[in-house]
Amino acid sequence: MQAQTAAQQLLEQTFGYSTFRGPQESIVHHVASGGDALVLMPTGGGKSLCYQIPALLRQGVGIVVSPLIALMQDQVDALRQLGVRAAFINSSLDADTARATYQTLMRGELDILYVAPERLVAPNFLSTLHEIQQRFGIALFAIDEAHCVSQWGHDFRPEYRQLTVLHEVFPDVPRIALTATADAPTRHEIVERLGLDSAEQFISSFDRPNIRYRVTLKNNARQQLLAFLASEHPHDAGIVYCLSRRKVEETALWLKEQGWNALPYHAGLDAGIRQANQQRFLREEGIIMVATVAFGMGIDKPNVRFVAHLDLPKSMEGYYQETGRAGRDGLDANAWMVYGLGDVVNMRQLLSGSDTPEERKRLERQKLDALLGYCESTHCRHQSILRYFGEQHAGSCGQCDNCLNPVNTWNGTEAARMALSCVYRSGQRFGAGHLIDILLGKSTEQIKRFNHHSLSTFGIGKSLNQAQWSSVLRQLVAAGLLATDMEGYGGLRLTEAARPLLRGEAEIWLRSDPPDTRSSKAERAS
Ligand code: ADP
Ligand code: ZN
Repeated sequence: MQAQTAAQQLLEQTFGYSTFRGPQESIVHHVASGGDALVLMPTGGGKSLCYQIPALLRQGVGIVVSPLIALMQDQVDALRQLGVRAAFINSSLDADTARATYQTLMRGELDILYVAPERLVAPNFLSTLHEIQQRFGIALFAIDEAHCVSQWGHDFRPEYRQLTVLHEVFPDVPRIALTATADAPTRHEIVERLGLDSAEQFISSFDRPNIRYRVTLKNNARQQLLAFLASEHPHDAGIVYCLSRRKVEETALWLKEQGWNALPYHAGLDAGIRQANQQRFLREEGIIMVATVAFGMGIDKPNVRFVAHLDLPKSMEGYYQETGRAGRDGLDANAWMVYGLGDVVNMRQLLSGSDTPEERKRLERQKLDALLGYCESTHCRHQSILRYFGEQHAGSCGQCDNCLNPVNTWNGTEAARMALSCVYRSGQRFGAGHLIDILLGKSTEQIKRFNHHSLSTFGIGKSLNQAQWSSVLRQLVAAGLLATDMEGYGGLRLTEAARPLLRGEAEIWLRSDPPDTRSSKAERAS
Protein backbone atom coordinates (compact mmCIF):
# COMPACT_ATOMS: atom_id res chain seq x y z
CA MET A 1 0.00 0.00 0.00
CA GLN A 2 2.85 2.28 0.91
CA ALA A 3 4.43 1.83 -2.50
CA GLN A 4 1.13 2.50 -4.23
CA THR A 5 0.64 5.74 -2.40
CA ALA A 6 4.16 6.82 -3.19
CA ALA A 7 3.54 5.86 -6.82
CA GLN A 8 0.38 7.92 -6.91
CA GLN A 9 2.26 10.84 -5.47
CA LEU A 10 4.97 10.59 -8.13
CA LEU A 11 2.34 10.29 -10.83
CA GLU A 12 0.68 13.50 -9.74
CA GLN A 13 3.54 15.61 -8.53
CA THR A 14 6.31 14.63 -10.90
CA PHE A 15 4.45 13.62 -14.04
CA GLY A 16 1.37 15.76 -13.60
CA TYR A 17 -1.27 13.08 -14.25
CA SER A 18 -4.18 12.40 -11.95
CA THR A 19 -4.79 8.69 -12.57
CA PHE A 20 -2.93 5.68 -13.86
CA ARG A 21 -4.06 4.38 -17.19
CA GLY A 22 -5.19 0.77 -17.67
CA PRO A 23 -2.71 -1.69 -16.18
CA GLN A 24 -0.05 0.94 -15.36
CA GLU A 25 -0.77 0.87 -11.66
CA SER A 26 -0.45 -2.89 -11.21
CA ILE A 27 2.69 -2.95 -13.35
CA VAL A 28 4.29 -0.15 -11.33
CA HIS A 29 3.43 -1.90 -8.10
CA HIS A 30 4.71 -5.25 -9.29
CA VAL A 31 8.05 -3.93 -10.52
CA ALA A 32 8.50 -1.52 -7.61
CA SER A 33 8.25 -4.49 -5.27
CA GLY A 34 10.97 -6.32 -7.18
CA GLY A 35 9.04 -8.47 -9.67
CA ASP A 36 9.96 -9.13 -13.30
CA ALA A 37 7.39 -8.11 -15.88
CA LEU A 38 6.59 -8.46 -19.56
CA VAL A 39 4.41 -5.58 -20.71
CA LEU A 40 2.48 -5.76 -23.97
CA MET A 41 0.80 -2.48 -24.63
CA PRO A 42 -0.11 -0.77 -27.87
CA THR A 43 1.95 2.22 -28.95
CA GLY A 44 0.75 5.29 -27.11
CA GLY A 45 -0.64 3.16 -24.31
CA GLY A 46 1.77 4.63 -21.77
CA LYS A 47 4.61 2.15 -21.41
CA SER A 48 7.21 4.67 -20.26
CA LEU A 49 5.60 5.36 -16.89
CA CYS A 50 5.61 1.62 -16.19
CA TYR A 51 9.38 1.71 -15.71
CA GLN A 52 9.97 5.38 -14.96
CA ILE A 53 7.95 5.40 -11.74
CA PRO A 54 9.41 2.15 -10.33
CA ALA A 55 12.87 3.44 -11.22
CA LEU A 56 12.17 6.48 -9.04
CA LEU A 57 10.59 4.44 -6.27
CA ARG A 58 13.43 1.98 -5.92
CA GLN A 59 16.91 2.51 -4.60
CA GLY A 60 19.57 3.34 -7.19
CA VAL A 61 19.55 4.14 -10.86
CA GLY A 62 17.10 2.62 -13.35
CA ILE A 63 18.78 1.41 -16.54
CA VAL A 64 16.69 1.61 -19.69
CA VAL A 65 17.83 -0.27 -22.79
CA SER A 66 16.46 1.20 -25.98
CA PRO A 67 17.44 0.74 -29.63
CA LEU A 68 15.99 4.11 -30.58
CA ILE A 69 19.05 6.29 -30.23
CA ALA A 70 17.33 9.20 -31.95
CA LEU A 71 14.63 9.28 -29.30
CA MET A 72 16.80 9.07 -26.20
CA GLN A 73 17.57 12.75 -26.25
CA ASP A 74 13.87 13.66 -26.38
CA GLN A 75 13.01 11.30 -23.57
CA VAL A 76 15.81 12.55 -21.39
CA ASP A 77 14.93 16.20 -22.08
CA ALA A 78 11.31 15.53 -21.14
CA LEU A 79 12.31 13.81 -17.90
CA ARG A 80 14.72 16.58 -16.95
CA GLN A 81 11.97 19.13 -17.39
CA LEU A 82 10.01 17.18 -14.82
CA GLY A 83 12.94 17.35 -12.44
CA VAL A 84 14.06 13.75 -12.92
CA ARG A 85 17.82 13.24 -13.01
CA ALA A 86 18.05 11.47 -16.37
CA ALA A 87 20.82 10.96 -18.92
CA PHE A 88 21.68 8.77 -21.85
CA ILE A 89 24.75 7.07 -23.20
CA ASN A 90 25.01 6.13 -26.85
CA SER A 91 27.26 6.54 -29.86
CA SER A 92 25.87 9.99 -30.65
CA LEU A 93 27.58 11.55 -27.60
CA ASP A 94 30.90 13.32 -28.00
CA ALA A 95 33.73 12.14 -25.75
CA ASP A 96 33.43 15.00 -23.26
CA THR A 97 29.71 14.62 -22.73
CA ALA A 98 30.06 10.87 -22.44
CA ARG A 99 32.76 11.28 -19.78
CA ALA A 100 30.66 13.79 -17.85
CA THR A 101 27.69 11.44 -17.93
CA TYR A 102 29.86 8.60 -16.60
CA GLN A 103 31.04 10.80 -13.78
CA THR A 104 27.48 11.72 -12.80
CA LEU A 105 26.60 8.05 -12.88
CA MET A 106 29.58 7.13 -10.70
CA ARG A 107 28.61 9.76 -8.16
CA GLY A 108 25.20 8.15 -7.82
CA GLU A 109 23.46 11.25 -9.10
CA LEU A 110 21.23 9.67 -11.74
CA ASP A 111 17.68 8.35 -11.37
CA ILE A 112 17.33 7.02 -14.90
CA LEU A 113 19.96 6.17 -17.52
CA TYR A 114 19.09 5.30 -21.12
CA VAL A 115 21.63 3.06 -22.81
CA ALA A 116 21.96 1.62 -26.30
CA PRO A 117 22.03 -2.20 -26.21
CA GLU A 118 25.50 -2.58 -27.74
CA ARG A 119 26.89 -0.32 -25.01
CA LEU A 120 25.14 -2.10 -22.21
CA VAL A 121 26.52 -5.53 -23.01
CA ALA A 122 30.09 -4.30 -23.51
CA PRO A 123 32.31 -5.90 -20.83
CA ASN A 124 33.64 -2.64 -19.40
CA PHE A 125 30.16 -1.20 -19.08
CA LEU A 126 29.00 -4.31 -17.25
CA SER A 127 31.81 -3.89 -14.74
CA THR A 128 30.85 -0.23 -14.32
CA LEU A 129 27.32 -1.38 -13.57
CA HIS A 130 28.67 -3.85 -11.09
CA GLU A 131 30.37 -1.10 -9.21
CA ILE A 132 27.26 1.07 -9.33
CA GLN A 133 25.21 -1.82 -8.00
CA GLN A 134 27.52 -2.18 -5.00
CA ARG A 135 27.72 1.48 -4.21
CA PHE A 136 24.25 2.82 -4.91
CA GLY A 137 22.13 -0.04 -6.20
CA ILE A 138 20.42 -0.55 -9.55
CA ALA A 139 16.68 0.09 -9.36
CA LEU A 140 15.72 -1.97 -12.39
CA PHE A 141 16.51 -2.89 -15.97
CA ALA A 142 13.87 -1.82 -18.47
CA ILE A 143 14.15 -3.44 -21.88
CA ASP A 144 12.19 -1.25 -24.26
CA GLU A 145 11.13 -2.45 -27.72
CA ALA A 146 11.72 -5.98 -26.47
CA HIS A 147 10.55 -7.49 -29.78
CA CYS A 148 13.98 -6.50 -31.15
CA VAL A 149 15.16 -9.78 -29.66
CA SER A 150 13.08 -11.64 -32.25
CA GLN A 151 15.09 -12.80 -35.17
CA TRP A 152 12.07 -12.82 -37.48
CA GLY A 153 10.85 -9.36 -36.66
CA HIS A 154 11.65 -6.31 -38.75
CA ASP A 155 13.63 -4.70 -35.98
CA PHE A 156 15.95 -7.54 -35.05
CA ARG A 157 18.92 -6.37 -32.98
CA PRO A 158 21.51 -9.08 -32.35
CA GLU A 159 22.74 -7.35 -29.16
CA TYR A 160 19.32 -7.89 -27.62
CA ARG A 161 20.15 -11.58 -27.53
CA GLN A 162 22.96 -10.86 -25.09
CA LEU A 163 20.69 -9.12 -22.61
CA THR A 164 20.24 -12.41 -20.75
CA VAL A 165 23.55 -11.55 -19.20
CA LEU A 166 21.72 -8.97 -17.05
CA HIS A 167 19.80 -11.69 -15.34
CA GLU A 168 22.93 -13.74 -14.78
CA VAL A 169 25.05 -10.93 -13.42
CA PHE A 170 22.31 -9.14 -11.47
CA PRO A 171 19.80 -11.78 -10.42
CA ASP A 172 18.21 -9.52 -7.80
CA VAL A 173 17.52 -6.54 -10.04
CA PRO A 174 13.99 -6.62 -11.46
CA ARG A 175 13.61 -6.59 -15.22
CA ILE A 176 10.72 -5.16 -17.13
CA ALA A 177 10.49 -5.87 -20.88
CA LEU A 178 8.11 -3.79 -22.96
CA THR A 179 6.79 -4.03 -26.49
CA ALA A 180 3.88 -3.05 -28.68
CA THR A 181 4.32 -6.10 -30.89
CA ALA A 182 1.79 -8.52 -29.61
CA ASP A 183 1.57 -11.61 -31.74
CA ALA A 184 2.00 -14.85 -29.84
CA PRO A 185 5.17 -16.14 -31.59
CA THR A 186 7.01 -12.88 -30.84
CA ARG A 187 5.79 -12.91 -27.25
CA HIS A 188 7.07 -16.45 -26.76
CA GLU A 189 10.37 -15.60 -28.31
CA ILE A 190 10.81 -12.63 -25.96
CA VAL A 191 10.09 -14.77 -22.92
CA GLU A 192 12.48 -17.46 -24.08
CA ARG A 193 15.30 -15.22 -25.27
CA LEU A 194 15.26 -12.89 -22.30
CA GLY A 195 14.72 -15.62 -19.72
CA LEU A 196 11.45 -14.15 -18.52
CA ASP A 197 9.65 -17.43 -17.79
CA SER A 198 8.74 -16.38 -14.30
CA ALA A 199 7.94 -12.77 -15.20
CA GLU A 200 4.37 -11.68 -14.79
CA GLN A 201 2.75 -10.82 -18.12
CA PHE A 202 0.66 -7.69 -18.44
CA ILE A 203 -1.24 -7.76 -21.69
CA SER A 204 -3.37 -4.75 -22.58
CA SER A 205 -6.18 -4.76 -25.06
CA PHE A 206 -5.04 -3.74 -28.50
CA ASP A 207 -8.43 -2.47 -29.48
CA ARG A 208 -8.53 1.07 -30.80
CA PRO A 209 -12.26 1.71 -30.77
CA ASN A 210 -11.95 5.29 -31.96
CA ILE A 211 -10.20 4.31 -35.20
CA ARG A 212 -12.46 3.73 -38.19
CA TYR A 213 -10.83 1.20 -40.45
CA ARG A 214 -11.60 1.30 -44.13
CA VAL A 215 -10.11 -0.59 -47.08
CA THR A 216 -11.12 0.79 -50.45
CA LEU A 217 -10.44 -0.67 -53.86
CA LYS A 218 -7.78 1.22 -55.71
CA ASN A 219 -9.15 3.03 -58.70
CA ASN A 220 -7.04 6.10 -59.36
CA ALA A 221 -5.48 6.34 -55.94
CA ARG A 222 -4.54 10.02 -56.10
CA GLN A 223 -8.06 11.15 -56.89
CA GLN A 224 -9.39 8.84 -54.19
CA LEU A 225 -6.98 10.33 -51.68
CA LEU A 226 -7.95 13.84 -52.70
CA ALA A 227 -11.65 13.09 -52.31
CA PHE A 228 -11.02 11.50 -48.92
CA LEU A 229 -9.01 14.48 -47.69
CA ALA A 230 -11.42 17.07 -49.04
CA SER A 231 -14.55 15.48 -47.68
CA GLU A 232 -13.26 14.25 -44.32
CA HIS A 233 -10.05 15.99 -43.35
CA PRO A 234 -9.82 19.39 -44.94
CA HIS A 235 -7.76 20.91 -42.10
CA ASP A 236 -6.41 17.91 -40.21
CA ALA A 237 -3.00 16.52 -39.46
CA GLY A 238 -2.42 13.09 -40.90
CA ILE A 239 0.07 10.65 -42.37
CA VAL A 240 0.04 9.25 -45.91
CA TYR A 241 2.17 6.11 -46.18
CA CYS A 242 3.81 5.06 -49.44
CA LEU A 243 6.10 2.13 -50.14
CA SER A 244 8.94 3.85 -51.95
CA ARG A 245 10.94 7.00 -51.39
CA ARG A 246 10.24 8.18 -54.90
CA LYS A 247 6.51 7.82 -54.45
CA VAL A 248 6.72 9.72 -51.18
CA GLU A 249 8.38 12.66 -52.90
CA GLU A 250 6.07 12.61 -55.90
CA THR A 251 2.96 12.37 -53.76
CA ALA A 252 4.05 15.13 -51.38
CA LEU A 253 4.84 17.41 -54.30
CA TRP A 254 1.56 16.65 -56.00
CA LEU A 255 -0.45 17.28 -52.82
CA LYS A 256 1.34 20.59 -52.41
CA GLU A 257 0.43 21.53 -55.97
CA GLN A 258 -3.16 20.75 -55.10
CA GLY A 259 -2.98 23.23 -52.25
CA TRP A 260 -2.39 20.86 -49.35
CA ASN A 261 0.08 21.42 -46.56
CA ALA A 262 2.14 18.30 -47.25
CA LEU A 263 5.74 17.40 -46.39
CA PRO A 264 7.86 14.38 -47.37
CA TYR A 265 9.68 12.06 -44.97
CA HIS A 266 11.88 9.08 -45.77
CA ALA A 267 15.26 7.74 -44.75
CA GLY A 268 16.91 8.99 -47.96
CA LEU A 269 16.32 12.63 -47.13
CA ASP A 270 19.05 14.75 -45.66
CA ALA A 271 18.98 14.42 -41.85
CA GLY A 272 18.42 18.15 -41.40
CA ILE A 273 15.38 18.20 -43.69
CA ARG A 274 14.01 15.08 -42.08
CA GLN A 275 14.32 16.59 -38.64
CA ALA A 276 12.80 19.91 -39.75
CA ASN A 277 9.81 18.22 -41.40
CA GLN A 278 9.21 16.08 -38.36
CA GLN A 279 9.33 19.12 -36.06
CA ARG A 280 6.87 20.98 -38.25
CA PHE A 281 4.50 18.02 -38.25
CA LEU A 282 4.67 17.87 -34.45
CA ARG A 283 4.40 21.58 -33.78
CA GLU A 284 2.21 23.02 -36.51
CA GLU A 285 -1.44 22.22 -37.07
CA GLY A 286 -2.88 20.48 -40.10
CA ILE A 287 0.27 19.13 -41.72
CA ILE A 288 0.08 16.04 -43.89
CA MET A 289 3.22 13.95 -43.67
CA VAL A 290 3.77 11.81 -46.75
CA ALA A 291 6.17 9.14 -45.59
CA THR A 292 7.67 5.71 -45.83
CA VAL A 293 7.52 3.46 -42.76
CA ALA A 294 10.72 5.18 -41.63
CA PHE A 295 8.37 7.78 -40.19
CA GLY A 296 6.47 7.15 -37.02
CA MET A 297 8.54 5.11 -34.56
CA GLY A 298 8.21 7.01 -31.33
CA ILE A 299 6.29 9.93 -32.86
CA ASP A 300 3.91 11.05 -30.17
CA LYS A 301 1.39 13.45 -31.68
CA PRO A 302 -2.01 12.95 -30.09
CA ASN A 303 -4.20 14.63 -32.70
CA VAL A 304 -3.24 12.80 -35.88
CA ARG A 305 -6.72 12.51 -37.39
CA PHE A 306 -6.03 10.08 -40.21
CA VAL A 307 -3.53 7.60 -41.54
CA ALA A 308 -3.85 6.84 -45.25
CA HIS A 309 -2.10 3.97 -47.01
CA LEU A 310 -1.48 4.34 -50.72
CA ASP A 311 0.45 1.06 -50.66
CA LEU A 312 0.01 -2.11 -48.68
CA PRO A 313 1.94 -2.49 -45.44
CA LYS A 314 3.99 -5.69 -45.19
CA SER A 315 2.02 -7.33 -42.41
CA MET A 316 -0.86 -6.95 -39.98
CA GLU A 317 1.64 -5.80 -37.36
CA GLY A 318 2.81 -3.07 -39.71
CA TYR A 319 -0.75 -2.07 -40.54
CA TYR A 320 -1.70 -1.96 -36.89
CA GLN A 321 1.37 0.06 -35.88
CA GLU A 322 1.02 2.53 -38.71
CA THR A 323 -2.73 3.07 -38.40
CA GLY A 324 -2.27 3.18 -34.62
CA ARG A 325 -0.57 6.55 -34.95
CA ALA A 326 -4.00 8.05 -35.57
CA GLY A 327 -6.30 9.15 -32.77
CA ARG A 328 -3.99 8.81 -29.79
CA ASP A 329 -6.12 11.45 -28.07
CA GLY A 330 -9.06 9.06 -28.10
CA LEU A 331 -11.09 11.17 -30.52
CA ASP A 332 -12.40 9.79 -33.82
CA ALA A 333 -9.76 9.07 -36.41
CA ASN A 334 -9.65 7.37 -39.81
CA ALA A 335 -7.46 4.55 -41.02
CA TRP A 336 -7.96 4.59 -44.76
CA MET A 337 -6.28 2.37 -47.31
CA VAL A 338 -6.57 1.83 -51.04
CA TYR A 339 -5.62 -1.55 -52.35
CA GLY A 340 -5.77 -3.36 -55.66
CA LEU A 341 -4.52 -6.28 -57.68
CA GLY A 342 -1.32 -4.41 -58.53
CA ASP A 343 -0.46 -4.14 -54.84
CA VAL A 344 -0.85 -7.84 -54.26
CA VAL A 345 1.38 -8.62 -57.21
CA ASN A 346 3.95 -6.01 -56.19
CA MET A 347 4.20 -7.12 -52.59
CA ARG A 348 4.46 -10.78 -53.55
CA GLN A 349 7.24 -9.98 -55.96
CA LEU A 350 9.04 -7.86 -53.43
CA LEU A 351 9.10 -10.82 -51.08
CA SER A 352 10.05 -13.48 -53.59
CA GLY A 353 12.74 -11.29 -55.10
CA SER A 354 14.65 -10.36 -52.00
CA ASP A 355 17.75 -12.35 -51.14
CA THR A 356 16.57 -13.28 -47.65
CA PRO A 357 16.80 -16.88 -46.44
CA GLU A 358 13.96 -19.19 -47.46
CA GLU A 359 12.70 -19.68 -43.92
CA ARG A 360 12.30 -15.99 -43.38
CA LYS A 361 10.69 -15.51 -46.77
CA ARG A 362 8.09 -18.09 -45.87
CA LEU A 363 7.30 -16.23 -42.68
CA GLU A 364 7.05 -12.91 -44.51
CA ARG A 365 4.76 -14.49 -47.06
CA GLN A 366 2.50 -15.79 -44.28
CA LYS A 367 2.39 -12.34 -42.75
CA LEU A 368 1.51 -10.74 -46.06
CA ASP A 369 -1.18 -13.36 -46.65
CA ALA A 370 -2.76 -12.51 -43.31
CA LEU A 371 -2.88 -8.88 -44.37
CA LEU A 372 -4.36 -9.73 -47.77
CA GLY A 373 -6.96 -11.85 -46.02
CA TYR A 374 -7.79 -8.84 -43.91
CA CYS A 375 -8.14 -6.62 -46.98
CA GLU A 376 -10.53 -9.07 -48.61
CA SER A 377 -12.41 -9.87 -45.41
CA THR A 378 -16.12 -9.15 -45.23
CA HIS A 379 -16.18 -9.13 -41.42
CA CYS A 380 -15.84 -6.38 -38.85
CA ARG A 381 -12.35 -4.83 -39.13
CA HIS A 382 -11.90 -4.39 -35.40
CA GLN A 383 -12.75 -8.02 -34.90
CA SER A 384 -10.37 -9.18 -37.65
CA ILE A 385 -7.47 -7.14 -36.31
CA LEU A 386 -7.92 -8.29 -32.73
CA ARG A 387 -8.38 -11.89 -33.76
CA TYR A 388 -5.02 -11.69 -35.46
CA PHE A 389 -3.49 -10.57 -32.17
CA GLY A 390 -5.24 -13.36 -30.32
CA GLU A 391 -7.88 -11.19 -28.70
CA GLN A 392 -11.66 -11.51 -28.69
CA HIS A 393 -13.97 -8.84 -30.06
CA ALA A 394 -17.74 -9.13 -30.36
CA GLY A 395 -17.71 -7.70 -33.90
CA SER A 396 -20.31 -5.33 -35.33
CA CYS A 397 -18.36 -2.28 -34.21
CA GLY A 398 -20.80 -0.19 -36.19
CA GLN A 399 -18.17 2.07 -37.66
CA CYS A 400 -15.75 0.15 -39.88
CA ASP A 401 -16.47 -0.09 -43.61
CA ASN A 402 -17.72 -3.67 -43.44
CA CYS A 403 -20.05 -2.93 -40.53
CA LEU A 404 -21.38 0.26 -42.11
CA ASN A 405 -21.82 -1.25 -45.57
CA PRO A 406 -22.08 -5.01 -45.30
CA VAL A 407 -20.34 -6.66 -48.23
CA ASN A 408 -22.19 -9.06 -50.48
CA THR A 409 -20.56 -12.29 -51.45
CA TRP A 410 -21.26 -14.43 -54.46
CA ASN A 411 -20.45 -17.98 -55.44
CA GLY A 412 -17.40 -17.39 -57.61
CA THR A 413 -16.58 -21.05 -58.18
CA GLU A 414 -17.43 -21.06 -61.88
CA ALA A 415 -15.70 -17.75 -62.57
CA ALA A 416 -12.65 -18.83 -60.61
CA ARG A 417 -12.42 -22.05 -62.64
CA MET A 418 -12.58 -20.10 -65.88
CA ALA A 419 -9.86 -17.77 -64.69
CA LEU A 420 -7.63 -20.59 -63.45
CA SER A 421 -7.95 -22.61 -66.62
CA CYS A 422 -7.27 -19.49 -68.65
CA VAL A 423 -4.05 -19.06 -66.70
CA TYR A 424 -3.16 -22.70 -67.32
CA ARG A 425 -3.96 -22.78 -71.03
CA SER A 426 -2.09 -19.60 -71.82
CA GLY A 427 1.08 -21.04 -70.29
CA GLN A 428 1.12 -19.55 -66.77
CA ARG A 429 3.15 -16.53 -67.65
CA PHE A 430 0.77 -13.68 -68.49
CA GLY A 431 -0.43 -10.85 -66.29
CA ALA A 432 -3.97 -10.00 -65.30
CA GLY A 433 -4.58 -7.55 -68.14
CA HIS A 434 -3.87 -10.06 -70.87
CA LEU A 435 -5.75 -12.85 -69.10
CA ILE A 436 -8.83 -10.67 -68.89
CA ASP A 437 -8.54 -9.86 -72.60
CA ILE A 438 -8.60 -13.61 -73.33
CA LEU A 439 -11.58 -14.19 -71.06
CA LEU A 440 -13.48 -11.32 -72.67
CA GLY A 441 -12.51 -12.45 -76.17
CA LYS A 442 -10.70 -9.30 -77.25
CA SER A 443 -8.60 -9.23 -80.39
CA THR A 444 -5.60 -7.31 -79.20
CA GLU A 445 -2.17 -7.31 -80.80
CA GLN A 446 -0.81 -9.53 -78.07
CA ILE A 447 -3.69 -11.99 -78.38
CA LYS A 448 -2.97 -12.35 -82.08
CA ARG A 449 0.77 -12.61 -81.57
CA PHE A 450 0.40 -15.52 -79.17
CA ASN A 451 -2.47 -17.06 -81.11
CA HIS A 452 -4.59 -16.86 -77.99
CA HIS A 453 -7.88 -16.48 -79.85
CA SER A 454 -7.64 -20.21 -80.53
CA LEU A 455 -7.63 -21.08 -76.84
CA SER A 456 -10.73 -22.84 -75.51
CA THR A 457 -10.98 -20.16 -72.84
CA PHE A 458 -11.05 -17.33 -75.40
CA GLY A 459 -14.21 -15.30 -74.87
CA ILE A 460 -15.77 -17.65 -72.31
CA GLY A 461 -15.98 -14.93 -69.66
CA LYS A 462 -18.28 -12.41 -71.28
CA SER A 463 -20.85 -12.64 -68.49
CA LEU A 464 -18.53 -10.58 -66.30
CA ASN A 465 -16.96 -7.25 -67.16
CA GLN A 466 -13.35 -6.20 -66.97
CA ALA A 467 -13.58 -4.82 -63.42
CA GLN A 468 -15.28 -7.97 -62.18
CA TRP A 469 -12.58 -10.16 -63.69
CA SER A 470 -9.97 -7.97 -62.13
CA SER A 471 -11.70 -8.51 -58.81
CA VAL A 472 -11.80 -12.28 -59.31
CA LEU A 473 -8.10 -12.44 -60.17
CA ARG A 474 -7.17 -10.19 -57.24
CA GLN A 475 -9.05 -12.39 -54.83
CA LEU A 476 -7.54 -15.55 -56.29
CA VAL A 477 -4.07 -14.09 -55.79
CA ALA A 478 -4.94 -12.89 -52.31
CA ALA A 479 -6.29 -16.34 -51.45
CA GLY A 480 -3.08 -17.95 -52.72
CA LEU A 481 -4.64 -19.88 -55.62
CA LEU A 482 -2.61 -17.87 -58.06
CA ALA A 483 0.97 -16.80 -57.52
CA THR A 484 3.12 -14.29 -59.30
CA ASP A 485 6.05 -15.37 -61.41
CA MET A 486 9.61 -15.07 -60.22
CA GLU A 487 10.81 -12.98 -63.17
CA GLY A 488 8.97 -9.94 -61.94
CA TYR A 489 6.73 -9.23 -64.95
CA GLY A 490 3.48 -9.76 -63.05
CA GLY A 491 2.75 -13.08 -64.75
CA LEU A 492 0.38 -15.37 -62.85
CA ARG A 493 0.70 -19.11 -62.32
CA LEU A 494 -1.34 -21.76 -60.53
CA THR A 495 -0.43 -22.98 -57.08
CA GLU A 496 -1.12 -26.33 -55.43
CA ALA A 497 -3.99 -24.68 -53.60
CA ALA A 498 -5.83 -24.20 -56.91
CA ARG A 499 -6.15 -27.93 -57.58
CA PRO A 500 -9.27 -28.78 -55.55
CA LEU A 501 -11.16 -25.96 -57.22
CA LEU A 502 -10.04 -27.00 -60.70
CA ARG A 503 -10.96 -30.60 -59.99
CA GLY A 504 -14.44 -29.54 -58.90
CA GLU A 505 -13.80 -30.55 -55.30
CA ALA A 506 -14.04 -27.11 -53.75
CA GLU A 507 -16.11 -23.94 -53.96
CA ILE A 508 -15.05 -20.38 -53.53
CA TRP A 509 -17.07 -17.41 -52.38
CA LEU A 510 -15.92 -14.01 -53.45
CA ARG A 511 -16.74 -10.54 -52.25
CA SER A 512 -18.66 -8.28 -54.59
CA ASP A 513 -16.71 -5.10 -54.94
CA PRO A 514 -18.75 -1.96 -54.38
CA PRO A 515 -20.35 -0.63 -57.57
CA ASP A 516 -18.50 2.71 -57.55
CA THR A 517 -15.20 0.98 -58.16
CA ARG A 518 -16.59 -0.85 -61.17
CA SER A 519 -17.62 2.18 -63.12
CA SER A 520 -14.33 2.97 -64.76
CA LYS A 521 -11.76 0.73 -66.26
CA ALA A 522 -10.25 -1.87 -64.05
CA GLU A 523 -6.89 -1.39 -62.53
CA ARG A 524 -4.31 -3.53 -64.19
CA ALA A 525 -1.46 -5.26 -62.57
CA SER A 526 1.41 -2.98 -63.36
P1 ADP B 1 4.19 4.16 -25.37
O1 ADP B 1 5.63 4.12 -24.94
O2 ADP B 1 3.40 3.01 -24.87
O3 ADP B 1 4.01 4.37 -26.84
P2 ADP B 1 4.16 6.60 -23.88
O4 ADP B 1 4.73 6.11 -22.62
O5 ADP B 1 5.03 7.39 -24.78
O6 ADP B 1 3.51 5.42 -24.69
O7 ADP B 1 2.86 7.43 -23.53
C1 ADP B 1 2.01 7.89 -24.56
C2 ADP B 1 1.35 9.19 -24.13
O8 ADP B 1 0.42 8.97 -23.07
C3 ADP B 1 2.34 10.19 -23.61
O9 ADP B 1 1.99 11.46 -24.13
C4 ADP B 1 2.15 10.15 -22.11
O10 ADP B 1 2.49 11.37 -21.52
C5 ADP B 1 0.68 9.84 -22.00
N1 ADP B 1 0.36 9.15 -20.72
C6 ADP B 1 0.95 8.03 -20.27
N2 ADP B 1 0.40 7.65 -19.09
C7 ADP B 1 -0.56 8.55 -18.81
C8 ADP B 1 -1.51 8.71 -17.72
N3 ADP B 1 -1.56 7.86 -16.70
N4 ADP B 1 -2.35 9.76 -17.77
C9 ADP B 1 -2.31 10.63 -18.82
N5 ADP B 1 -1.44 10.54 -19.85
C10 ADP B 1 -0.59 9.51 -19.85
ZN1 ZN C 1 -16.76 -3.25 -37.59
